[in-house]
Amino acid sequence: MPEGHTIHRIARDHGKLLVGMPVGVSSPQGRFSSDAERVDGTTLERIEPYGKHLFYFWSTGEIGHVHLGLFGKFRVSTDDDRPPPRGAVRMRLESDLATIDLSGPTACSIDDPSVRTGILARLGPDPIKPRQNPRRMFDKVSKSTRGIGDLLMDQSVVAGVGNVYRAEALFVCGMHPLRPGRDLDPAELEELWNTITTMLRRGVKDGRIVTVSRAESGVPRGTPIPRSVATYAYKRDHCLHCGTEIQRLDIANRTSYHCPTCQPR
Ligand SMILES: [Zn+2]
Repeated sequence: MPEGHTIHRIARDHGKLLVGMPVGVSSPQGRFSSDAERVDGTTLERIEPYGKHLFYFWSTGEIGHVHLGLFGKFRVSTDDDRPPPRGAVRMRLESDLATIDLSGPTACSIDDPSVRTGILARLGPDPIKPRQNPRRMFDKVSKSTRGIGDLLMDQSVVAGVGNVYRAEALFVCGMHPLRPGRDLDPAELEELWNTITTMLRRGVKDGRIVTVSRAESGVPRGTPIPRSVATYAYKRDHCLHCGTEIQRLDIANRTSYHCPTCQPR
């Protein structure tokens, strides 16, 4: 599943191709047709990312909602010739500049603005967005007996963190994923929020997840850091810092990775 940095990147990249212009909206697959008809040909005013959600503000006053889930995928074409839909395309967006097809999302709808308000009310702060208050995250974590590795995957605690950033942020903070939320002191909560914020924002800039520094990766400048050495603990056999074998746990239905030496219980 894409993490928050990918969603913010999509909003930015697609916004350049769609925002401020009339956009043709259709559903080649048919499942989104009646929603599409309501905004087809109207102007897209902006695309707002929040956590793993995308909101499309239409000049009609309605707001589109997309959540990619595990299998959702966008395909962008800037060819003059409109590409034929490939597979089951739920939503097609067409401007003068591009054709963007969405297939396999968990959610895709055009709604009254109250639907967006309701979704946002259920989400924790999004660390990529400016001026977010982490207080809601801190309150939830410090009242919970659940492990911090479980809490970080809960979008109502913090929005946008997925499996890779969970592993990497906990590694950098030296926190065992099973440590109960309520055991974290205020300085640790602050450190965790700052770590997540820095990592996710770097992800938006890079367009991929690299959590290690170039020096730590050992890859010379000018060469892209390969995925296999781009993380401290995630999907590694041995810890980048100390060489201890990385332990795997099943937390929140996803494999969690941690170093038992750098992240003691
Ligand atoms: Zn280690």
